[in-house]
Amino acid sequence: MFNALVVDKDSEGTVSAQITELDDSQLPEGDTTIAVEYSTINYKDGLAIANRSPIIRNFPMVPGIDLSGTVSAGGGGDCGVGTRVTVNGWGIGEQHWGGLTQTARMTSQWLVPLPDSVTTLQAAAIGTAGFTSMLCVLALEAHDVVPSSGPIVVTGAAGGVGSVAVAILAKLGYEVHAVTGRPNEADYLRALGASEIIPRNELNGDPRPLGKTRWAGGVDAVGSRILANILSMTKDNGCIAACGLAQGMDLPASVAPFILRGVTLAGVNSVTVPYERRLVAWQRLATDLDPAKLDAMTTVVPMRDAIRVAHELLDGTVRGRVVVDVNA
Ligand code: NDP
Repeated sequence: MFNALVVDKDSEGTVSAQITELDDSQLPEGDTTIAVEYSTINYKDGLAIANRSPIIRNFPMVPGIDLSGTVSAGGGGDCGVGTRVTVNGWGIGEQHWGGLTQTARMTSQWLVPLPDSVTTLQAAAIGTAGFTSMLCVLALEAHDVVPSSGPIVVTGAAGGVGSVAVAILAKLGYEVHAVTGRPNEADYLRALGASEIIPRNELNGDPRPLGKTRWAGGVDAVGSRILANILSMTKDNGCIAACGLAQGMDLPASVAPFILRGVTLAGVNSVTVPYERRLVAWQRLATDLDPAKLDAMTTVVPMRDAIRVAHELLDGTVRGRVVVDVNA
């Protein structure tokens, strides 16, 4: 028997989430069983648990788009029995049972072996948010945005993606400008490595086709008007890596930054990243993210608090990353 957070829909269409005791016979199909240690609450998990968006494709569902733990049966390739692994994305917690459980079953092809220096707790603290931040950094590098190119703007900076992005970029030597709607988190963001704190409202006006240039690149977790504004303020041949929609899915921008300044808008989707690229990103996370900063941005909660935290995250009151200890 094991405990899992289960989101289900009743005959009247009401969706609810609760911790439920299950047995192995109720696990979904899959060639690999994982003794889960940690999962996390990402923005998408908040939407799924609070039923604020149709994230879950079939019910009942165990949410949790991340997990870390040890392979207890099956496995394959680099991830045999006993290997410490992480799984991020691939539709877990959306189409396939995810990480908010003590036991998970899934396909071995989704597993990534953890670098030796990364603990299962750190892997969860990084999670999809941190993995996505690293993919954004890789996108900037691929477009020749290097520390000497100029400052980098990070939006949604006090959130999960933003916090990890600030810490990685600062460690790599970039000058980081953090955009936040929470001025009270300025000290937190400076401690992660931000050299300038920009109030969100400053970038919330009507976007102009081209503005005064401020940044060589950016990591954007919010979309909408703020993304349109930072695009208009990006220097010649700069790059903005866009991964999120915390402000909105729209993009009220013009093509001017692209055709007059050669700016690149690099889309980042962490869900279906191929295995080899996942390995690269996780190796880079092992070296380019200061563990002390990761620790400073992480809160660990027991499973019974996961539902409460999911709602708080959507309300914008959660700072950094939230790890769920599924065995606590
Ligand atoms: P969090 O909730 O932890 O962080 C989001 C942050 O966005 C908040 O902390 C806040 O930062 C800012 N924010 C919230 N509401 C608004 C608003 N109305 N306008 C402007 N900024 C706002 O979420 P995550 O970091 O986990 O995810 C961030 C985004 O990235 C989400 O949209 C998520 O879906 C997306 N994402 C996409 C992935 C991909 O593969 N493409 C993977 C992971 C996440 P502050 O308080 O500092 O202003």
